[in-house]
Amino acid sequence: ARDPREAQDETELAVEGALRPVSLAEFVGQQKVRGQLQLLLDAARIQQRPADHILLSGPPGLGKTTLAMIVAHESGRPLRLSSGPAIQHAGDLAALLSSLVPGEVLFIDEIHRMARSAEEMLYLAMEDFRIDIMVGKGAGATSIPLDLAPFTLVGATTRSGLLPNPLRDRFGFTAHLEYYEPDELERVIARSATVLGVDVPPVARDEIARRSRGTPRIANRLLRRVRDYVIVHGASDAAATEGDVSAALELYDVDAIGLDRLDRAVLDAVVRRFRGGPVGLSTLAVTVGEEAETIESVVEPYLVRIGFLGRTPRGRVATPEAYAHLRVRPPSEALR
Ligand code: ADP
Repeated sequence: ARDPREAQDETELAVEGALRPVSLAEFVGQQKVRGQLQLLLDAARIQQRPADHILLSGPPGLGKTTLAMIVAHESGRPLRLSSGPAIQHAGDLAALLSSLVPGEVLFIDEIHRMARSAEEMLYLAMEDFRIDIMVGKGAGATSIPLDLAPFTLVGATTRSGLLPNPLRDRFGFTAHLEYYEPDELERVIARSATVLGVDVPPVARDEIARRSRGTPRIANRLLRRVRDYVIVHGASDAAATEGDVSAALELYDVDAIGLDRLDRAVLDAVVRRFRGGPVGLSTLAVTVGEEAETIESVVEPYLVRIGFLGRTPRGRVATPEAYAHLRVRPPSEALR
């Protein structure tokens, strides 16, 4: 799922590209995953073969695309970028796979949204570097086998549970990316501030980090808004203050703990409209006017992670912390 908060503006995308670390050593946090990837890449290098297929899962903005780029860069191989929604027919995938050069790294974002027919073709391609191309229809149909150049597939998904088992099983390595800790986000911000040439002292970095929903992409975006604020309101070559951070982020509806309008709409619906829940995902999605997949893989994981929402078999429930944040008095225990 794409994060609806993301403006897909070209200049913003270009800036995001400029902020991407290019090596594993520069990639902040996710220490375990970094170590695992390093071993995988080192082994492939020693044996001079493409690395095993890699599946990365986790909410948007945690570094899946960046890691795919790093895999290609560190193994000195070219990279091809594609995405599940762009692969609507087996033919789309056949064209993509047959044009890969030996050892190429193929990144498929949102791999769970690929067409079913393509999925089955991918099983064989991943396992044997071979596909069967069907020609003709009905009784006269035949399949022509086609050998492919060996490649490394890096798949990304917001939730690996959305993938069929046979596909998931064909990845040699599966990693789940976790939300980042504030000190890790501070390092991301410090690095980005240097790249962007803005002066953001530790107190201001700390403030941005706490409001970034554990997500480097959001940290980078908030940093750019703070930079704008300082350009407009600060003295020339002034450093960002904590006050600048608060003022800039308030303007963009980011609250003191980093929740934005959509997060608050979801919380508000559960607390006020459904009296704390339980409420089902689809009902909740309709209430706030978003797609269920977005609520489930973008909004909810963070609210669960910070202990504001609970998942029960009957639906989502608000916790006392959620009530406190919205300044709503929780129903007394007797009434629940
Ligand atoms: P995803 O593919 O998971 O949605 P991206 O890889 O596109 O996320 O990352 C979004 C932005 O956040 C990029 O600009 C990237 O540079 C930055 N970023 C993500 N993870 C890290 C990290 N661990 N260290 C530094 N920057 C990161």
